[in-house]
Amino acid sequence: MSADQTFTTSRLLRFGTSIFTEVSAAAAKYGAVNLGQGFPDFDGPDFVTTAAANAVKDGPNQYAPMGGHPLLTKAIAHRFQSDHAVEIDPEHEVTITAGCTEAIASSIQGIIEHGDEVIILEPWYDSYPAAIEMAGGVCRYLTLTAPDFRLKGDDLEACVSDRTRMIIINSPHNPTGRILDDQEREALKKFVLKHDLIIFSDEVYEHLYFEKPHRSLLCEPELRERTIVGSSIGKTFSLTGWKIGWTIASPQLTQAIRAAHQFLTFSIATPLQVAAAEALNAPDEYFTTLRAEYLEKRNLLCDGLEDVGLDVIRPQGTYFALVDHTSTGHGSDRAFCNHLLEKAGVAAIPVSAFHHDGHKKGGGGQNLTRFAFCKTHEVLEEALSRLRRL
Ligand code: GLN
Repeated sequence: MSADQTFTTSRLLRFGTSIFTEVSAAAAKYGAVNLGQGFPDFDGPDFVTTAAANAVKDGPNQYAPMGGHPLLTKAIAHRFQSDHAVEIDPEHEVTITAGCTEAIASSIQGIIEHGDEVIILEPWYDSYPAAIEMAGGVCRYLTLTAPDFRLKGDDLEACVSDRTRMIIINSPHNPTGRILDDQEREALKKFVLKHDLIIFSDEVYEHLYFEKPHRSLLCEPELRERTIVGSSIGKTFSLTGWKIGWTIASPQLTQAIRAAHQFLTFSIATPLQVAAAEALNAPDEYFTTLRAEYLEKRNLLCDGLEDVGLDVIRPQGTYFALVDHTSTGHGSDRAFCNHLLEKAGVAAIPVSAFHHDGHKKGGGGQNLTRFAFCKTHEVLEEALSRLRRL
């Protein structure tokens, strides 16, 4: 065996190293302020971390039921009902997963047959294409374009074939910050009903919206039986490292998801599930305060980026903001990000990494850079002052 021999399968080789790992390593190397990988630089609320410490100390510490600890599945169903007025059966419609990433993987593994097509909107979250191809599925890409990134019925129709089985939606959307409006929801609904498709609706930023509220796709009665909602506590409670996520779906879809989940992870850290239940039982005020704090952070970052002369696409939700850097004259997002990293000491994410053709000349996303604002005011100020000096 030679030192450069690879054991990685061909279906994974093309995905290389995740952009988040790459940028965080580069940020460390340059001592940069890291506005790349989306994780808060502050900890989740005390009442949740204390609940976790107590649950570890006092138990339960053995395997949780495969579908999830009843305290947590009930808390999720309850929260969903109070947010969206849709009744959920915690026992047969909620499954606890290792973050939303495993919710996506289990849903795809459980439902997609070899050769089935899955439509994903680009820019995408980077686990979608890999999860689809690991399951033997085929990705069909629908490119959303700046500055409005609208989902249109004609574009959906152009992606469909008789092998299409599923579409993955993400709203509020990482990295564009878009929230689907009524027209887009209608177009999507018509499309999936016409072609008998399943929706995986990634709603991990469900509580991070600003001007207008997020409404789950499960609220649409016609979509109730064909939609899987995936979410997690990571963003809502600033606990991304806990990897506590879930799916909400009809009992039939839940059966398929669990068929895969039982062999991927079987069950998820029991004491953290108990603490996550405590988190989700928080009063409404927790969620409104969170939004108010993130609105301030969004405005601080976006105003600051505009002040230094950048074209900012202000997000409607999530904790990311995009910049269209075309006017700076840097040929590509990679070039612009390297420039920021090396000359200013600020790390950001090149959006071409979220496009299937992003590495090619003229490929998607090369005009866009993503900045995360899930950081303390001091850190955001420091990043802006570095950019001002540049
Ligand atoms: N969801 C986060 C982001 O988009 C990070 C995910 C990860 O590091 N894998 O930045």
